[in-house]
Amino acid sequence: MHIVRSYLCDRWQEGGERRPLINPSNDERLAEAGSSGLDLGDALAHARDHGGATLRKMTFAQRGALLASIATSLHKRREDLVALSIANGGNTRGDAKFDIDGATGTLSYYAKLGERLGHKRTLVDGAAERLAPNPRYVGYHLQVPRRGVAVHINAFNFPAWGLFEKAAVSILAGVPVFTKPATATALVAERAVEFLVEDGVLPKGVLSLLCGSAGDLLDHLDVQDVVAFTGSADTGARIRGHACVVERSVGLNIEADSLNAAVLGADVDSDSGAYELFLREVARDVTQKAGQKCTATRRVLIPADRLDEVREDLTNEIDNVRVGDPSLREVRMGPVTNRAQLADVEAGMAALEKSGAERVHGGGRGKLVAIEGDQGCFIAPSLFVAPADNPVVHSREVFGPTATLLPYDGTADAAVDILSRGKGSLVSSVYTDDKLFAEGVVLEAAAFMGRIHVGSSRVAEHSPGPGTVMPQMVHGGPGRAGGGEELGGLRGLAFYSQRTGVQGEKTLLEKILPMEER
Ligand code: NAP
Repeated sequence: MHIVRSYLCDRWQEGGERRPLINPSNDERLAEAGSSGLDLGDALAHARDHGGATLRKMTFAQRGALLASIATSLHKRREDLVALSIANGGNTRGDAKFDIDGATGTLSYYAKLGERLGHKRTLVDGAAERLAPNPRYVGYHLQVPRRGVAVHINAFNFPAWGLFEKAAVSILAGVPVFTKPATATALVAERAVEFLVEDGVLPKGVLSLLCGSAGDLLDHLDVQDVVAFTGSADTGARIRGHACVVERSVGLNIEADSLNAAVLGADVDSDSGAYELFLREVARDVTQKAGQKCTATRRVLIPADRLDEVREDLTNEIDNVRVGDPSLREVRMGPVTNRAQLADVEAGMAALEKSGAERVHGGGRGKLVAIEGDQGCFIAPSLFVAPADNPVVHSREVFGPTATLLPYDGTADAAVDILSRGKGSLVSSVYTDDKLFAEGVVLEAAAFMGRIHVGSSRVAEHSPGPGTVMPQMVHGGPGRAGGGEELGGLRGLAFYSQRTGVQGEKTLLEKILPMEER
C-alpha cells in the first residue's frame, strides 16, 4: 500500500494514524495518509527561517522565474498527474485537465507579473500623499513581504489548482508556502511536489507539504504568519475561532461554501446566443467535476412563464452528458470523490425534497457507462424546482451534480432579492442582452457577490463560464462564501504583505523606497 508522505524541512517524512485514499469509481484503496508524529512546529520554523529569507532576497523577476520553472516541471508530467487525478478523485480527463492546467496557467500568469515587476523586491502602493502645507512632507505606502509562513489549507476538489493558485501568489509576494491538501485527494498534490523536488526546482524551505490531518498545525502559528483556507464553512469557522489565530492576529483568508446562482433575463429568446450560452453553462456547472465546484451554479432563476420550456431544454442538455467510468474518453461525468461525499450529497438532495422542492430530473445512480452493479460513488445529475422563497435552497449547499430552478417575475429587483438570500456568493451569472436589466442586477447584487458573469449573446462564443476562476480576477465572496479574496492579479499580493505608511521628506523617501526599478 502506498503511503502518502509529507515534504517537511526539505525531506520526505511519513506520519502515522493514516486514513485511506480511494478510487471512487470502484472503491479500490489506493493509498493511506496520516500526519501524527510529524513535528509541525519545527517544519513551520524551517520554512520561516530558510524559505522566507531566500524569497525576500529574490527580486520579483527571480520569483517569477521560479514560478515559471514550477509550471514547466508540472506541465512536463501533465499526463501522470491526469492519470492520478482520474484514479484518486473520480475526475474525467476533462475534469483532471481543468484542475492541472488551471494550476500551471495560474503559475504562468504570476510568473509574467513577476517578470514585469522586474528588479524590485517590495512595492510602493499608490502615489505620494501630501501631509502638510509644505509639499516637502509627504507619505507613501510601502508593501513588504510578511516575515512568516503562508499556511494554505485546501479542499478536496482541486488538489492541483488549489495548491498552486495560492502558492503562486504567496511566492511572488515573497512568503514561503506550507500547504496542506485535503486528505481524500492528496495523491495529486504529493506527486506534483515529488516532481518539483526531483527537478531540483525548489529553493530550501520555499514549499512544504503536509499530507494527512492538520493535527496541531494551527497551535504553532505566529504573528507574521497567514492562513489561507478553502473548504466548508464549518471548518472555516473553526479556524477563525482558533486561539492562536485570534490572539496572534494571524492574517486569515477564507474561501467557503457558496450558493451561486444564474439568472435568465426575461428578454432572452430561445433562439438567441445568450440562451444557448445559459443552457451550456448551467448544464456544465451541474455535471463538471460531478458538480463538486465551489463556483458551480446551484440556483437558477427563470422567468415564471418560461419555466416548463427551460426545464425541458436544460434536462435535454444534461441528458447528453454520459456518466460512468471517468477513465473512458466518451464519459463526461464521473463519481463524487468518496463515500462520505456521496452520503452528504444524498442527504442534501433529501433535505431539498423534504423542504418541498420537487425533483424534476435525475434520482438514483442513473444510466452508467462501464460500471458494474453498485460499485463506486455514483449519483445521477438532478434538477429540482422550488418556489423562490424556499429557505433550504438558499441555505444548504449540495456539493454534487444538482441545481434548483426557481421561478421569478422577470424583474431585476426580484432577481436581486432572491440572489441576496444566499447570504453571499462566490459568483453569479446574469444572462441577458438588455442593458437596463444587466445594470439593475449587477449594481444591486454586487454587494452579495465576489464576481458577476454577464452572459450576453455577443460573448457567447468567448465565455469560459462563471466556473473558470481566472487569475486576473478576484476569487472569493462575502458572507457565507467566507468573506475572503484571492488572486485578482497584483491585488492578491496584499494578503501576504504588510502595508506600512512611511512619512517624511519627499526626496529622501523617493531615494529609499522602490520608486524605480533598481
Ligand atoms: P473541509 O472538510 O472543510 O476540508 C477542507 C480542508 O480543511 C481539508 O484540507 C481538511 O483536511 C482541512 N481541515 C479539516 N478540519 C480542520 C481543522 N480543524 N483545522 C485545520 N484544517 C482542517 O472541506 P472539503 O470537504 O474538503 O471541501 C468541500 C467544501 O469546500 C465545499 O463546501 C466547497 O464549497 C468548499 N470549497 C470552496 C472553494 C472556494 O474557493 N470558495 C473551493 C473549493 C471548495 P482533511 O481533508 O485532512 O480533513
